[in-house]
Amino acid sequence: MNTESVIYLDNNATTELAPEVLTAMMPYLSNQYANPSSASRMGAAVKAAIGDARAAVATLLGCRTAELVFTSGATESNHAALLGVMSLNPDKCHLITSTVEHPSVLLLCRHLERIGMEVTYLPVDTEGQLNPDHLRVAIRPDTALISLMWANNETGVIFPIEEAAAIAKSAGVLFHTDATQALGKIPLDMSASGVDLLSCSAHKIHGPKGIGALYVRKGLSMVPLIFGHQERGRRGGTENVPAIIGFGAAAQLYQSLITETSYLKALRESLETGILGLFPMARVHGAAARRLANTSNISIFPGDSEALLHHLEEHGITAATGAACAAGGTRPSHVLMAMGLEKSLVQSSLRFSVGRYNQQEDVTQLLNILPKIYQDIVSFSALAV
Ligand code: PMP
Repeated sequence: MNTESVIYLDNNATTELAPEVLTAMMPYLSNQYANPSSASRMGAAVKAAIGDARAAVATLLGCRTAELVFTSGATESNHAALLGVMSLNPDKCHLITSTVEHPSVLLLCRHLERIGMEVTYLPVDTEGQLNPDHLRVAIRPDTALISLMWANNETGVIFPIEEAAAIAKSAGVLFHTDATQALGKIPLDMSASGVDLLSCSAHKIHGPKGIGALYVRKGLSMVPLIFGHQERGRRGGTENVPAIIGFGAAAQLYQSLITETSYLKALRESLETGILGLFPMARVHGAAARRLANTSNISIFPGDSEALLHHLEEHGITAATGAACAAGGTRPSHVLMAMGLEKSLVQSSLRFSVGRYNQQEDVTQLLNILPKIYQDIVSFSALAV
């Protein structure tokens, strides 16, 4: 798919725009420019196209079209869910989340704490998995919301969301899930999940960036993050029409989730088996937990993963470290730290995330180049001593 010869193994960060998606978007970037709120014929046509896109996303989520609110992405959806619920009732100012959430949830929770709310951060075990019993005991009479991610972006570990949602429901607490990484990778069925609110994003499923959705269960009223008459008063601002159309087209690519999943799983397994064969000291993080089929978080050999990432890049291979760039250097992954991994393992970890445009040849090339990179890194460190 790529015009440059890049082997792209970073699909959890973002995905390439699918050609079908670009084609669907093009008219809305050129002649179909009407405002969908306009009473004109042109406006009505654009409004109808938005309706079709909403239906496609709703099908992927197993929800009603009226339950979907388009947003600027999962970051905004997470904000709309947490802020929208937490400002409903001043007597309920406790929120439960986990230590391994995406920064768009964790940083917001820190803000909520600063303005007087209380947040409980549930721990995970050494495989990155959550224990539902910890959730049961954390619920208090003043708990307004539980927010847990469906699948982790760094490790791919899948939380038992249906069970957590059932616990929330029996306690009368609202339940939100950040399903950004789960969308298009595991079946999501809002009609049966017990989830009240769900965040997702188009650019993780070969759609455009800057567009996402918030699922809001029918009957749930909440305070909007952005006021205005669009999206039935739940999210103001003129709709990002081309991006919405792109999201709809991307959702349509995921009719056959099972075929896609088994393809990705085969690629990931060949990557992990190959690496473990070449480097018996390698460790896959979260390997014993239920994981997304496409994600591998792995410490291949001791050392700083930044160096390995740089060498891979030199050979045209794009992957990721779990570390976040911060002023003055990189911070070790909060996810792997929360799993209790030794710091050396955290620092040497890399994330490979395969996608529908990867082929076995990509994995083979990675496996061919890794021993040479290892030799280069070892001889460089020997020189440096
Ligand atoms: N949550 C998770 C789990 C994610 O992986 C991401 C994207 N990295 C986001 C939220 C934010 O999504 P967006 O880029 O659409 O704001």
